[in-house]
Amino acid sequence: MLLGKVINIQKYSIHDGPGIRTSVFLKGCPLNCWWCHNPESQCSEKEILYWEDKCTTCGMCVKKCPNGAVEIKDGKIINHRDKCTACGKCIDFCMNNAREISGKEYTVEELMKEVEKDTVFYDESGGGVTFSGGEPFSQMNFLEALVEASKNKGIHVAIDTTGLTSSENIRKIASKADLFLYDLKFMNDEEHKKYTGVSNELILQNLKILSDMQKEIYVRIPVIPGINDGENLKKSAEFLKDLNITKVNLLPYHKYGMDKYSRLEIEYKLKEEKEPTKEEMDNILEMFKKYGLNVKIGG
Ligand code: SF4
Ligand code: SF4
Repeated sequence: MLLGKVINIQKYSIHDGPGIRTSVFLKGCPLNCWWCHNPESQCSEKEILYWEDKCTTCGMCVKKCPNGAVEIKDGKIINHRDKCTACGKCIDFCMNNAREISGKEYTVEELMKEVEKDTVFYDESGGGVTFSGGEPFSQMNFLEALVEASKNKGIHVAIDTTGLTSSENIRKIASKADLFLYDLKFMNDEEHKKYTGVSNELILQNLKILSDMQKEIYVRIPVIPGINDGENLKKSAEFLKDLNITKVNLLPYHKYGMDKYSRLEIEYKLKEEKEPTKEEMDNILEMFKKYGLNVKIGG
């Protein structure tokens, strides 16, 4: 039986494509972006989230864990993530909701049941379903089955992707999906590798493929002052002006996902970076317009 791992199903979403949508966030991503808002989506396996501020160090999780993956040291809970099998036993005994598993398994039928609940809203608003992540292509078989099931039900499908997958996968999904929300981060490969952990070669190539296929594409560019603004954005606009791009969304950097890093006990590397000002965003918007692109601030 085909099973997929899902971190969240967000209903009534209005920023992930046209109309009112259900956004399904699939677990697993080959990138490791410094500013990632969903760090719990990166690992393809299920994992424990831990809220230190809710924890009373009662020690129940330590007692109940069959793998010795939790201990109390100097009055603090230490999670040994290398020993954790995400069995969930500790969660059942935590009275303070300080623990949670990220990554629930669904069959295609179970997930489609959730998606279909809001068909009436999709019909009225011109919305549909958006498969996001993580990177939805990291669960290609599951994604393909979901796209097919959605289209069979007449539901509009958007794919929110980093673009890092094989060109064969891109073509396959593009032959069925209606819209791509496509991330563009750096034009320079060295910078791309530094801040995301991977090369941009395949990502740029796949975007050209989608453009050649005349797909509807919203290119989404995070704007992070001091990291990818300035020359990089000019080069991005130059690259995009020759492609068939429906829309460019400039997404101002924000730190909303920062507290999720503490739940996974990993470091957030962009602590010092500032959010762009309205004036900075307006200047960038005008620059993209000069290249003849249909551009807007926000999703
Ligand atoms: S069971 Fe919950 S509240 Fe108790 S120590 Fe573990 S995480 Fe903290
Ligand atoms: S999920 Fe299971 S293995 Fe992991 S800490 Fe909890 S009880 Fe231990």
